[in-house]
Amino acid sequence: MVMSHEANNMKVIFLPFISTSHIIPMVDMARVFAMYGVDVTIITTKGNAAIFQKSIDRDFNRGRSIKTHVLEFPAKQVGLPVGVETFNADTPLDMSPKIYYGLAILQPQIEKLFEELEADCIVSDMFHPWTVGVAAKLGIQRIIFYAASVLSRSAVHTLEQHATHTRVDHDSEKFTMVGLPHKLEMTRLQLPDWMRKSNAYGQLMKMINDSATKSYGAVFNSFHDFEGAYEEHYKNAFGTKCWSLGPVSLWANQDVSDKSERGDTKVEEGEDSDLLKWLNSKKENSVLYVSFGSLNKFPLSQLVEIAHALETSSHDFIWVVRKNNDKEGEDEGFMEEFEKRVKESNKGYLIWGWAPQLLILENQAIGAMVTHCGWNTIVESMNVGLPMVTWPLFAEHFFNEKLVVDVLRIGVSVGAKEWRNWNEFGSEVVKRDEIGKAIGLVMENGKEAEEMRLRAKGLSDDAKKAILVGGSSHANLIQLIEELKSLKLQRLNGLCCC
Ligand code: UDP
Repeated sequence: MVMSHEANNMKVIFLPFISTSHIIPMVDMARVFAMYGVDVTIITTKGNAAIFQKSIDRDFNRGRSIKTHVLEFPAKQVGLPVGVETFNADTPLDMSPKIYYGLAILQPQIEKLFEELEADCIVSDMFHPWTVGVAAKLGIQRIIFYAASVLSRSAVHTLEQHATHTRVDHDSEKFTMVGLPHKLEMTRLQLPDWMRKSNAYGQLMKMINDSATKSYGAVFNSFHDFEGAYEEHYKNAFGTKCWSLGPVSLWANQDVSDKSERGDTKVEEGEDSDLLKWLNSKKENSVLYVSFGSLNKFPLSQLVEIAHALETSSHDFIWVVRKNNDKEGEDEGFMEEFEKRVKESNKGYLIWGWAPQLLILENQAIGAMVTHCGWNTIVESMNVGLPMVTWPLFAEHFFNEKLVVDVLRIGVSVGAKEWRNWNEFGSEVVKRDEIGKAIGLVMENGKEAEEMRLRAKGLSDDAKKAILVGGSSHANLIQLIEELKSLKLQRLNGLCCC
């Protein structure tokens, strides 16, 4: 008979997807597990490990049981240049299928590792639906990790069940998503393409949903005061458990070193301090932070509209801009001139590439942000209580916008009408007037902005409480770890537990 203390050494393996914005929150979550005594291993490839390894080394030196198991990406075998093994804004479109192929080649190796490392539980990104079968074979729990909101998962489920989007006459007519805790309306144009017309991605989503229902449960980077009503909806819809364990960015990154070195490693030394000096010279709540995540690039026509809106607004700004390598040279003249002007007037600060987002957001000078509604960014913005201008683009962004604008009422929509793929420009160009109007609404001192700011600050307080002893995410984490230990004990004693 195995005694309970022998089940205390819980080994949990985290398997992130190979895109920067899936890796970042899963690694933060893994680090939180390690903070609470779990023996954590993260499995990924060398190029992807480089995105977060410094934080793992710091945690290890803090005495936590956490490590990365690094695999060699089969670049040669799939015909990719060495180092191209991540989905981000710089991933060449034609190389994407090869990256997926490389990942598929690694699958048997990863499967073997779960066994060799004697995992008690696998926390798997949604994009590895096959891990559900492996966990069942090993007799251990598989937990699905979503780098997305609970609301978005609920919305997709309800649309699959009730198909209200198929009952309107045209793509820009509004339909209601029935069965959700709030009355939310969208148009077909705002839905991902695979929900409008069957395609390969839709097949993958079916496999993911199937794996979700067969999982022991789901974990989200969210918290009860943020999406509590949707946690219940998810549990009923998928028939599994569900734990909100966020905000993981707040929980895992409490030191400046954690915040400044998070994510992509391309931040040049000294760059942060120039940026922080600039920010520190600005008045409280006076600067707008504009960022569109780790995957997006805009065509010049859209950059021009954003630039005009920012230059003519009465607020200072930081704008994280990505160079469009495919059309080298095309926008250089315009953006260079723009940067020169806003630098001279001390009105704007452009970051070409990777921004230390957590450090920027928590600076007292930042008053609001313009976001593409990437889930990590929404949660990070909530950590510090910022109202948002919402500008959804792809993935589940349009669902996230509903949460921010309609449910929580902490954002103003820029009025984006059309979903597009992450690696496409799409046909919509949001005009400078629309951008300017939305910026004015969140940054100026009107009643509406004031109320939004108060609601956002309230949620920021809730976020901070959620991760403390007695808070909802803290309680969820402790309960989940205890549950996994007890299941391990049953397994070791030969009692079925899956
Ligand atoms: N991020 C960052 N600096 C950047 C761009 C992104 O630190 O210049 C981080 C951001 O803090 C967030 C993640 O990358 O954690 C982006 O994830 P999100 O879900 O917001 O958007 P996606 O990249 O999936 O579009």
